[in-house]
Amino acid sequence: MLELFRPEVQALVAYHTPAVPGADKLNENEWPTDLPDAFKQKLAQTLEQEILANRYPPANPERLKAGIADYCGVTSSQVALGNGSDELIRAIITATCVGGQGAVLSAEPTFSMYRILAETFGVPYVGLERRESDFGFEPDTLRDAVRKHNVRVVFLANPNSPTATLLSEQILETLRSLPVITVLDEAYFEFSGFTSVPLIGTWPNLIILRTFSKAFRLASFRVGYAIAQSEVAQLLEKVRLPYNLSAVTQAAATLVIENRDVLLAEVPALLQERDRLIESLSPWLRIWPSTTNFFYARCPNWDLETLRLALAEQGSLIRVTGGGMRISVGTPEQNQRLIDNFARVLGKTSLSY
Ligand SMILES: *Cc1c(COP(=O)(O)O)cnc(C)c1O
Repeated sequence: MLELFRPEVQALVAYHTPAVPGADKLNENEWPTDLPDAFKQKLAQTLEQEILANRYPPANPERLKAGIADYCGVTSSQVALGNGSDELIRAIITATCVGGQGAVLSAEPTFSMYRILAETFGVPYVGLERRESDFGFEPDTLRDAVRKHNVRVVFLANPNSPTATLLSEQILETLRSLPVITVLDEAYFEFSGFTSVPLIGTWPNLIILRTFSKAFRLASFRVGYAIAQSEVAQLLEKVRLPYNLSAVTQAAATLVIENRDVLLAEVPALLQERDRLIESLSPWLRIWPSTTNFFYARCPNWDLETLRLALAEQGSLIRVTGGGMRISVGTPEQNQRLIDNFARVLGKTSLSY
């Protein structure tokens, strides 16, 4: 029955996050609270009064692109839009490697969609190993792997998920000197405050990916964007699906980007929560420094899957990946529950913060 389906697709392990109703979701790095009421009301009004359900949405959402261009300090022609940044990762692989044109490289552990999407196209995937001390890797290792495996595109999340670390200046310089397309995935830019967008003018093979799924609270609507030199952005626009963003998604993203100051004003408080959470859990866990809205930890002498299940039973969902735990910062209440649940599971006395 399945013999007409490609073996590499049959061998894939689909992206999956277990759902537990009512539990605190600290496992997908989302913003912990919904869009503010005023935003949702405005969006409902747009849906009722402006969006025609029977018509295709605008094929080229100019106002949204203009808002993103203004936010990033580029021109609208340098922006490509995707149904989540996942669609743009796929568009980049479609436009570069499909048809035996070269391999995709990243550094593990990292966001699994780079590997999964490469594999769905039968494109070879090379995963460099990161050092355990700081999750960096050597420029020479990168250079050698690019040459040896005919790498055409390098995907690096910056900051990386799950490790929450930034790339070194040395690695960025090495990438720039290599004959590859470098994709820096800045899904967490609003938390890290670090961006490579200013390099685009002098780096034709650079593509920056961003998303509305994290600090902008639109994970449910699926919208991401790429920033690159205009010629590159236009190539990506050609390989995406027509009408990839629904009219409702376009309206939500436009509303959010035009009123971003309200949403971004809440980022510092979340980062403060992160620091307090890390401080409270540090006596029990090995935690790596974080530049974003989640952190990476290990727990000596514990099987992490056992630990994850025990925490889930207590009502706190975390993600186990790459040999460690990735924990998103929640609301202050969710964070306190996480501390209490760790205390209960590990048999420690809870510290309150
Ligand atoms: C969350 C995340 C994204 C966002 O993907 P969307 O498809 O835009 O929701 C992209 N890259 C990384 C590394 C992420 O962690």
